[in-house]
Amino acid sequence: MADIRIQRVRKVFNNTVVAVNDVDLHIQDQEFLVLLGPSGCGKTTLLRCIAGLEDVTSGRIFIGERDVTYLPPRQRRIAMVFQSYAVFPHMTVFENIAFGLRMQKAPQHVVDERVHEAARLMHIEELLERYPAQLSGGQRQRVAVARAIAVQSDVLLMDEPLSNLDALLRLEMRAELKRLFNRLQTTVVYVTHDQVEAMSMGDRITVMNAGRLIQLDKPTRVYDYPATKFVGGFIGNPPMNFLRVHLTDDQRAASIGDVQIPIPDEVRRALHGDRVEIGIRAENIEVTTERKEHWLPAEVAVVEPLGSHNLLTVECGGHLLKVNVPADLSLSPGMTIWLRFVPEKVRWFDSESGQALL
Ligand code: ATP
Repeated sequence: MADIRIQRVRKVFNNTVVAVNDVDLHIQDQEFLVLLGPSGCGKTTLLRCIAGLEDVTSGRIFIGERDVTYLPPRQRRIAMVFQSYAVFPHMTVFENIAFGLRMQKAPQHVVDERVHEAARLMHIEELLERYPAQLSGGQRQRVAVARAIAVQSDVLLMDEPLSNLDALLRLEMRAELKRLFNRLQTTVVYVTHDQVEAMSMGDRITVMNAGRLIQLDKPTRVYDYPATKFVGGFIGNPPMNFLRVHLTDDQRAASIGDVQIPIPDEVRRALHGDRVEIGIRAENIEVTTERKEHWLPAEVAVVEPLGSHNLLTVECGGHLLKVNVPADLSLSPGMTIWLRFVPEKVRWFDSESGQALL
């Protein structure tokens, strides 16, 4: 068993910067957990605390049954891949991949077997005799991942391992790593600030902001039911649209212009006065070019053709909204269109705290 239990972990740098703020997190055995968040939110610091590369200021970390809080990195039985994916320039690819196994004093036949297996998984078997200077960036990246896989640790920590690759290679490696981790029985903690990577790879995603965990859930759940406005704005491209709305006197509906959106009972129970904002994603707004009763009028500001669909920016009741429309819908700036928010896709937030109302 290699689940990871993080209990009230806090990391303060120089008595001033609270990089990780009392985080509680249980990562399941063999789970692929993504730590996602904007630059500076504390992802790398939390990962380094798990690895033992940073001492925690307070709190405890368990891997399986072992309390590893004060163990040095090499005794934690973990493997790591970093953003900079340091490979040793004076060693062949083979020796680079073998490095962790040599440190463990593994017998030569085990080294041979594991290096070849890791190289085969990463499609770099034909490169084993080369030196890093003779490799492309993407190949070097694969060497770093192969080295981490070869030690077959129960826990693998990865910090933005694809960040230095070009877009196409990144896409390929994303799928390859995903396939790989479906097969290896490893617990993976994967740091990224790329929300597409997080959505596509993670069994669960933890969204962090300012040292705290904001939401921990399955990717589709985080996307569909963001716990806060911050999450709705951070996950998804384009970000979720937010609109301040007014409640009707009986608090049973929200009004935008003369359109009313019914408020679900569970949302109504969580209301604090009139502080309500709704969130709606670009693909959950229906569009028509013909005037319709109870649809919202909007003016097209920008049309961005994206191949599979067009992304519109529209002005609607003082708000700028992003809306996805089919590529063949012919629209141009200045045109008036009518919008309908798909009711079951509307999300409700407290406009002051930003918390979802549920
Ligand atoms: P990025 O995506 O940019 O790598 P991150 O989410 O991984 O960001 P961290 O690197 O964990 O963020 O940094 C969290 C906070 O801690 C930041 O404010 C950062 O400046 C600060 N920090 C990180 N390392 C140190 C350090 N060694 N000394 C002082 N402050 C640090």
